[in-house]
Amino acid sequence: MPHNIAIVGSTGSIGTQTLDIISQFPERFKAVVLTAGSNVDLLIEQARRHRPALAVIADQSKWPALRDALEPLGIATAAGDSAIADAMERDDFDTVVTASVGYSGLLPTIRAVRAGKTIALANKETLVVAGELVSKLFKEHGTKVVPVDSEHSAIYQCLIGEDPATVSRLIITASGGPFRTKSAEEIANVTAAQALRHPRWNMGAKITIDSATMLNKAFEIIEARWLFDVPSEKITAVVHPQSIVHSMVEFVDGAVKAQLGIPDMHLPIRFALGDASRLPSAEPPLTLADYASLTFERPDEEKFPCLTLARKALADGGNTACIINAANEVAVAAFLKGRISFPAIYDTITEALSAIPFIASPTLDDYVATHHATIAHTASRIGL
Ligand code: NDP
Ligand code: MG
Repeated sequence: MPHNIAIVGSTGSIGTQTLDIISQFPERFKAVVLTAGSNVDLLIEQARRHRPALAVIADQSKWPALRDALEPLGIATAAGDSAIADAMERDDFDTVVTASVGYSGLLPTIRAVRAGKTIALANKETLVVAGELVSKLFKEHGTKVVPVDSEHSAIYQCLIGEDPATVSRLIITASGGPFRTKSAEEIANVTAAQALRHPRWNMGAKITIDSATMLNKAFEIIEARWLFDVPSEKITAVVHPQSIVHSMVEFVDGAVKAQLGIPDMHLPIRFALGDASRLPSAEPPLTLADYASLTFERPDEEKFPCLTLARKALADGGNTACIINAANEVAVAAFLKGRISFPAIYDTITEALSAIPFIASPTLDDYVATHHATIAHTASRIGL
């Protein structure tokens, strides 16, 4: 019997690579639910190939096209955000790959946790927006969570067989993004096209911009804090431009364990789908002799001030990271349209932090309201 899987965001970078792995192991995995935002053509093509039980599109205007293409094949279809969240409660799968981008991952993930599913977690924004609440839900429901984010997958792998009480530090590696070697003056004038050219990883547009500002690394510190239940002062980031060491764990005896591999998301996706087990790779092996050197340097928080937002978010707590995430979603969209400069992404986030009311112990409704209030405030300020 194959292991049945739902993919939230099957048409994206992580979603399509997840389907590659499913195709590599047809006797082992089957996609039974596929969902997308608005790319109906690719969703139809994926559904024709993988024959899921259900395909859902968030953009309701695309539903007629989806229905007309798939219902003759016996594939059920639905549309809208709530249909994606409702699909998480079906009983024909047990693992959800959360591969949609941004805030859109939060509510489907919560519904999947409540329905007792295993979570292959790619959508880091779920733990950025509402990490305290979601990590409590994981504990209450005994949820098995296997990270897909390469750094967190590396840490997870380094922790296998170890006593969590002996961990002294999580060391998250960062490529440094496309502007690592540029001066502050050069960074002030970079374009969206330059920011989208990531030196190591081929990813969706939003995370590629987050990597360029290094907010992605701040988000990964927040993600690690909630995934591994390690306080923020024990989590550090180090720049490693070759992206071969995916992250490290330091133990109280001074030992540091690392996980290495080529920069390719198929490995962490395969590890997560296989429920933290080792399945054979179809990618080229890592040949260390091909690398003249592996280098490490301290991140430059002056050039990349978004990095400092991890400390602020975790020190202030409450809805702080939710505000940061929402303001960033609007700022990134505005930067991609050429409406604001690259440094204005950070300024937009800090302005939102001073404008949106702080809530120390938010409920889920408070997080949802904070997100929407921040989106509305930031969009009207930028004039989007
Ligand atoms: P992409 O932009 O490539 O894909 C996003 C997916 O989400 C697409 O399927 C998209 O559908 C869907 N989507 C977009 N908006 C909505 C919405 N409002 N409601 C429902 N679905 C929506 O992103 P990535 O694959 O790069 O990233 C996905 C997640 O994984 C992010 O949280 C990212 O941080 C994380 N991640 C990604 C890595 C990577 O290598 N790409 C590495 C580590 C983490 P459509 O195609 O129709 O727009
Ligand atoms: Mg990562």
